[in-house]
Amino acid sequence: MQGWIDYFEEIKNRLMAEGRWREFVPIDSAPGPQVIIKGKKVILLCSNDYLGLTQSTILKKKAIEAIKKFGTGSGASRMISGSLELHLELEEQVARFKGKEKALVFSTGYMTNLGAVTSLVGKGDAIFSDELNHASLVDAARLSRAKIYVYKHLDMNHLKDLLKNSREQKKLIITDGVFSMDGDIVPLSDIIQLSNDSGALLLVDEAHATGVLGDKGKGVFEHFHIDPSDNVILMGTFSKALGGLGGFVAGKGIIIEHIKNHARSLFYTTALPPSVIASNMRALKLVSDMKKERKYLYELRKLIEESLKNIGLNVPEGITPIIPVIIGDLEPTVQFAMRLFEKGVWTPAIRPPTVPEGTCRLRISISSLHSIDLIKDALSIIEKVKEEE
Ligand SMILES: *Cc1c(COP(=O)(O)O)cnc(C)c1O
Repeated sequence: MQGWIDYFEEIKNRLMAEGRWREFVPIDSAPGPQVIIKGKKVILLCSNDYLGLTQSTILKKKAIEAIKKFGTGSGASRMISGSLELHLELEEQVARFKGKEKALVFSTGYMTNLGAVTSLVGKGDAIFSDELNHASLVDAARLSRAKIYVYKHLDMNHLKDLLKNSREQKKLIITDGVFSMDGDIVPLSDIIQLSNDSGALLLVDEAHATGVLGDKGKGVFEHFHIDPSDNVILMGTFSKALGGLGGFVAGKGIIIEHIKNHARSLFYTTALPPSVIASNMRALKLVSDMKKERKYLYELRKLIEESLKNIGLNVPEGITPIIPVIIGDLEPTVQFAMRLFEKGVWTPAIRPPTVPEGTCRLRISISSLHSIDLIKDALSIIEKVKEEE
């Protein structure tokens, strides 16, 4: 046993020396725009609760009603006795929301990607994956045992070449719709064109797009006014702008049924509890009408982007509520984040392996619950820390 302990201690010491050891930061309040941590109030600039729905009175009420009627758990996997009528209703609602024939709900977004990708392709097939895709897509690709071709971020020429030169018959392209650490958006019509030309399936992960982009919050397709073709599988989550938990895929009926029959991350895990399903259902209805909040989020983003650029920080232009502030090396990024935290702004340093080496950053994310005044307070704190550098 001592050998094991020495081994783990050695790794821990190395990670600590490199500033890569991770600790949780427990919040002692509701995760709203401001939170209490160890008795101290800080402005929260790192949640994915873009529309503030985790705190919605309506959603809380729906969840409580469902607990009273159905209980706290679903008791089994979807394949055994864990499928309630509620799950099916939610799936019909998702399919309508996304304008596809069928939808399938999983317990988390991570499990959705694992289940979908491993069902669609396997050994002898090919996956084409953007280099900055979310870890759940990366892990899914590896687990599938298909050959993985990684293309440069958003580089459609590179993707085109890889597609042309690959020998595999069955091809699947996987991409984030809105990239989780950069907040930029996939060039949708180009990637659809490439998927059609090469006979590939295309899976678009709309975790950060659902509820945020498009007139009714339907995501990247609505944003670009493009109808997803039959070879497209839309993936999304309830865990971000929808304020709940769970993931889904939506697409052509036969494809979704195929995933339903092959996804191990669906069979071998317990179905989402009734409270979560009920609030997810209501959240999907609510977001369609939250156009005002989406417009406000966009305006806040632009305000932050411009203010930070004006004080000399490296902030890429964008339109989503994810605002990366690229610092570069690990040490100064961690220092910047620590000083911000001491002064009352919480936006953590994002480091490898979450982002590539040399692109360490602060990842600011905002919610429609942040008032302009609160954001201005945060901006002046960021400016102060920057001046002290
Ligand atoms: C968060 C995220 C997921 C995982 O969703 P969870 O519901 O949190 O498991 C998948 N894909 C992307 C792009 C994400 O940002």
